[in-house]
Amino acid sequence: MTSLLGVVARRRIIALSRSSKHAGVSLGGSRNNTHSSAGRQATARRTVNTTLLFGCALSASLGYYAANSAAARQSAPLNVSKTPSGLNDQYGTLEDFQLAISQLRQEFDPDAVTTDAEDLRVHGYSENDYHPEDDSDLVCQPGVHWMHLNDALKKKGIPLFFPLDPAPGATIGGMISTGCSGTNAVRYGTAKGEWILNVTVVLPNGEVIKTRRRSRKSSAGFDTTKLFIGAEGTLGIITEATIRLAPLMPTSVAVVQFPDVRQATQAVIEVMNKGVGIQCIELCDSEHMRATNVYGMSSRKWPEKDSLFIKFQGPTPRSIQESAEIVREIVKKYDGTGFEHARTEKEAADLWMDRKNALYSGLALVEGSRGWSTDVCVPVSRLPDLVYQTKDDIQKSGIVSTMVGHVGDGNFHALLLFKTDEELETCRHVVHRMVERALALDGTCTGEHGVGIGKRKYLVDELGEGTVELMKTIKRTLDPYNLFNPGKLYPDADQSKFHPSVTPSND
Ligand SMILES: Cc1cc2nc3c(=O)[nH]c(=O)nc-3n(C[C@H](O)[C@H](O)[C@H](O)COP(=O)(O)OP(=O)(O)OC[C@H]3O[C@@H](n4cnc5c(N)ncnc54)[C@H](O)[C@@H]3O)c2cc1C
Repeated sequence: MTSLLGVVARRRIIALSRSSKHAGVSLGGSRNNTHSSAGRQATARRTVNTTLLFGCALSASLGYYAANSAAARQSAPLNVSKTPSGLNDQYGTLEDFQLAISQLRQEFDPDAVTTDAEDLRVHGYSENDYHPEDDSDLVCQPGVHWMHLNDALKKKGIPLFFPLDPAPGATIGGMISTGCSGTNAVRYGTAKGEWILNVTVVLPNGEVIKTRRRSRKSSAGFDTTKLFIGAEGTLGIITEATIRLAPLMPTSVAVVQFPDVRQATQAVIEVMNKGVGIQCIELCDSEHMRATNVYGMSSRKWPEKDSLFIKFQGPTPRSIQESAEIVREIVKKYDGTGFEHARTEKEAADLWMDRKNALYSGLALVEGSRGWSTDVCVPVSRLPDLVYQTKDDIQKSGIVSTMVGHVGDGNFHALLLFKTDEELETCRHVVHRMVERALALDGTCTGEHGVGIGKRKYLVDELGEGTVELMKTIKRTLDPYNLFNPGKLYPDADQSKFHPSVTPSND
């Protein structure tokens, strides 16, 4: 058993974040998905996150250590007061952490403990510490961005890629911790599938474990890797992961318009059931298409109708062409018009960009607005009901919004635009009703963005009290002091009771 404190002692350096207001234990990613401008990138935050990761792990480990030794001394240096649920949502204060740092300095050589930013960078971050293997897998650090990783594979001439594709700035650690997916999920599934072979994790008590070895399969016990997928950093800090890669195949893009969302969805269901080579199939509502025109970065003016963006994939251009022809015939049956299939790679990239720019084009609809991005997911056949009811609700609320959806998975994202506090409050109510509707349709409060703080209150309704209690039991067992991401994921005691779905009229 390797304790983290042991590891750092051997390395002769302990790095802690001095600048962090609530030093260290919050692992970033508040899941408050608001965006203020096109230029705003998550990159800087990501760098800080990865830089602080080592410090965070140590801080948390230290917190556990300090809480334990303090308990023995009858004086708690950390604020570990509990809610009736047994979990608390309080972070250590700056004073708590300063005290803990000084205690750590007493335990070790004082020079071995540092809060220096450069030490944090050197010990907490490695830019290129990953290496493809002959087995189409790769060992990497949690701070690596999936896009950088795929770029690096391309530059090295390795015809493989990691197919989970959430936001461009997302990192492997965050992606695993949210159980992410993206436009490719319809072909490759999600982080909850088989893409993560193992993770190395620092547990709240400082112990470092690796969940399993690198072999493709294992039936040795239950899958402890999965415990950390979607745990939102509440059970441990992932410090390394072995991920599977997929063959990089030629792709192409087509776009087609429909009279309405129902027709588009029915076409998607038939396309999916044909088993043709589809990598992505994305629904963009008429408002998104209008926004793309307003944004003005597209190579064309789009008909402002509900549209499907389809990415074909196949081992040869001929197989792609064949898939495209099958899809062209299917969409005709559902009154699809204007089917446009890219003839060159550049054309395909241009078309796809109009889908990928959803956040920025959406924000262009209301100058100076901010956007609340949220997602829900339902069985595919129920998506039209959800979309219609939600659109109707949004229209009545007076909020401007665009919708894009990973329609092949029944997952859609709404971008709600607001400028004032009043509008923000209206958005909050709209999101609440959207979630209630998704649950009523046998869906989930979040298909991929995660629960975070804002959606904890829906977990009991969605999963049932028994399942939530099981989650809490695991949390309490691994992290009895609730040191890791307190306040995230698990509902508070007063949220841990079933409340029947509300309808828009009584909210
Ligand atoms: C424009 C936009 C589009 C998006 N599209 C998609 C999409 O298509 N699909 C999708 O799935 N998501 C999407 N998202 C959401 C987001 O990209 C994903 O949730 C992503 O997986 C988050 O990764 P991150 O690195 O940003 O994690 P963060 O937001 O930094 O963190 C997420 C959670 O993981 C925890 N965490 C981070 N690193 C670690 C670690 N090493 N160990 C333990 N816990 C850790 C954090 O504490 C936090 O609780 C989108 C977001 C935006 C803004």
